Amino acid sequence: MKRKSGSSRKGRKPMKEAWRVEFNTDTCSLCEMCVNRCPTQALFLRRTDRKVEILFDSGLCNGCGGEIYCEIHCPEAAVTATRIPVEGLPSEPVLLIAGEMAICLDCGRPYMPERKLAALLEQGKITPKPVQKFCPACRRDRLIDSYLSITDRIAGK
Ligand code: SF4
Ligand code: SF4
Repeated sequence: MKRKSGSSRKGRKPMKEAWRVEFNTDTCSLCEMCVNRCPTQALFLRRTDRKVEILFDSGLCNGCGGEIYCEIHCPEAAVTATRIPVEGLPSEPVLLIAGEMAICLDCGRPYMPERKLAALLEQGKITPKPVQKFCPACRRDRLIDSYLSITDRIAGK
């Protein structure tokens, strides 16, 4: 889930308990699952052309009522959530991890965090490496081109 960065906690009700969420930056693959599962947008993305960041706003985190979705859904077991005193809340969102984006060799657009791409390749969840140098749109175009060239050959054109 995305939102504008730097949102303020002004006007929020006083919290009874607070949480600190931390990532293991060695094992996090920047898959964004935790961001997508966070019901309060306490975890959120910030993207630039070549970079993606995940930030944590403790003022928005309610620990999912004790369920800690970000922790239980992380495929890399890279999330640690701990209770902290409310007085210990940072006043601004904190940066948990940042990574470079993979750039499409055809169109030059960033299309996926490099870490995520590396993890998917390592786990054999995506097609062979050469194909992964292109964004999904360029991959689709290449597939269509190759399909058309095959059908042309079959048709004797
Ligand atoms: S779910 Fe885990 S691996 Fe994926 S971005 Fe969050 S912390 Fe990193
Ligand atoms: S504990 Fe729940 S609310 Fe807090 S960051 Fe994780 S998913 Fe979001």
